Amino acid sequence: MSSEKLLNITINGMPVKVKDGATILQAAKKLGIKIPTLCYLELDCFHFEHRKGSCRICMVEVEGRRNLAPACCTPVMDKMVIQTHSPRAVNARRTVLDLILSDHPKDCLTCAKSGNCELQKLAADFKLTSVKYEGEQSTYDFDKANESIVRDLNKCIMCRRCESACNEMQTVGILSGVRRGFEAIVAPTLEKPLDETNCVFCGQCVAACPVGALTAVIRNQDVLDALNDPKKTVVVQTAPAVRVAIGEGFGLKPGTISTGKLVTALRRLGFDAVFDTDFAADLTIMEETTEFIERVKKGENLPILTSCCPGWVKFFEHQFPDLIHIPSTAKSPQQMFGAIAKTYYAQKLGVDPKDLVVVSIMPCLAKKYEASRPEFARDGIRDVDIVLSTRELIIMLNEAGIQLDRLEDGEYDSPLGESTGAAVIFGASGGVLEAALRTAADWLTGQDLEKVDFAAVRGLEGTKEATVEVAGMQVKAAVVSGLGNARRLLERIRSGEAQYHIIEIMACPGGCLNGGGQPYIRGNTAILEARMNAIYEADKGLPKRKSHQNPDIIKLYDEFLGKPGSHLAHELLHTHYISRGNA
Ligand code: SF4
Ligand code: SF4
Ligand code: SF4
Repeated sequence: MSSEKLLNITINGMPVKVKDGATILQAAKKLGIKIPTLCYLELDCFHFEHRKGSCRICMVEVEGRRNLAPACCTPVMDKMVIQTHSPRAVNARRTVLDLILSDHPKDCLTCAKSGNCELQKLAADFKLTSVKYEGEQSTYDFDKANESIVRDLNKCIMCRRCESACNEMQTVGILSGVRRGFEAIVAPTLEKPLDETNCVFCGQCVAACPVGALTAVIRNQDVLDALNDPKKTVVVQTAPAVRVAIGEGFGLKPGTISTGKLVTALRRLGFDAVFDTDFAADLTIMEETTEFIERVKKGENLPILTSCCPGWVKFFEHQFPDLIHIPSTAKSPQQMFGAIAKTYYAQKLGVDPKDLVVVSIMPCLAKKYEASRPEFARDGIRDVDIVLSTRELIIMLNEAGIQLDRLEDGEYDSPLGESTGAAVIFGASGGVLEAALRTAADWLTGQDLEKVDFAAVRGLEGTKEATVEVAGMQVKAAVVSGLGNARRLLERIRSGEAQYHIIEIMACPGGCLNGGGQPYIRGNTAILEARMNAIYEADKGLPKRKSHQNPDIIKLYDEFLGKPGSHLAHELLHTHYISRGNA
């Protein structure tokens, strides 16, 4: 096989053997040589590559060639001799950088990506002390009419990473290059604002964008205003995937579980109660599994599709309206939490729901959009009022001088703070489905089964399929993350080619641990593996690992909801979907 063939090349005087098909950049990496890049982005565990060589920052000298070659997209050839840091290559990079900066705003001090901007880092690495070319500047209006994403095209460097993320990885197809020359930008068709398109607000374009052209809507001030309002009771919920990533913002090793420190940090910020979205994840399993078992018994409306991910929900509403009857009608944990907080908890506290503010800390930008959907409000009172991403909370804690890494562990408040291992694994692709299988197996057999691990549905692969035995039944399951993989699976279901009983779909590759609101990973998929392993470790260490064994969930049904699938449960915890056109 040609991919196994090894080529002998020399880089900076050092011989190295590399596989046929490797690029100069990959070969240099093997020798520990760092060639600067900007437009290049690779997420190897998702087979995502963006190496179009458009920025020319990675130019190197190849012996025998007149022109410099972009290292990210030039394949090596046998006996190639390469100089990665010759004076000519370094000068060329510096000129490219000078030209990019000539048309880039110089507002680094106030840019939302400051400290996370790859262009800023390159300028620092090159020790640029002035901008060489003062050219004409682009002037575009901001696109910030939606709840999730801000587009500031004045900062766009035309690397087109967002376009690949949206079109190739997610297959949503919102972004493409428009206009020409100096005017060229990446934008939706007809340069419409995002909220007038099929955008699902997954935020994968924001995560891919190396500069401040795509950033998240920031709501920190709204939270501070609520905390400073003496008339308001302000409670916060923390999503499963936040606790395994937030430590990265404070220098902790990727994969460090910071649950207790996160609770203490939120208490120090002044929240009246700190609760856990994991509680609502257990609640989601109660409702979703009830629905799953009903459908299996009737043999209709299968496969059931999970509905926790608002990016995925908006995707099927636009792209697969003919299949709108198969997703579970259970709301996401974020929205279930809000609905229970504004009813059950508000009643217990004796607070008017109008004066109760629910803040969510999410790994996700689509959750910002989800909280604003018209159906998630009762009598004009929203279930969830403000959604912050993990990155926003890091900013907020830094502003408040709270060093999360130095804090003691705190405990969640009751009654919406108790959770099980089944809820913890919601943060990883496959977790929701595994949690549902744990409960389904017990409910169908009427036993407390020892088997809780369904390892076949774990891992970062984009599509996982397994047949698992649940109460003597062979359950055909699939787990998909990344909307491109979701599209391919749904097309097979639509054509009748694939048949399953249950499918979990998450918009972000790898699930929420790689959400669009998490600390940036910049192509380092080892960080995702560390986050995922931490999630499964946390699950393993918990005394209760099945949602239906959560004592506070049992109490919630006893005291308030009745039983799973009850009339009140339907009213508060279920939703409907909208067939949306293609825009
Ligand atoms: S948020 Fe997702 S769907 Fe919307 S433009 Fe970005 S990548 Fe595409
Ligand atoms: S918006 Fe960002 S990712 Fe997209 S082309 Fe511009 S700089 Fe690159
Ligand atoms: S996978 Fe998670 S983080 Fe990504 S859009 Fe869905 S809910 Fe949000």
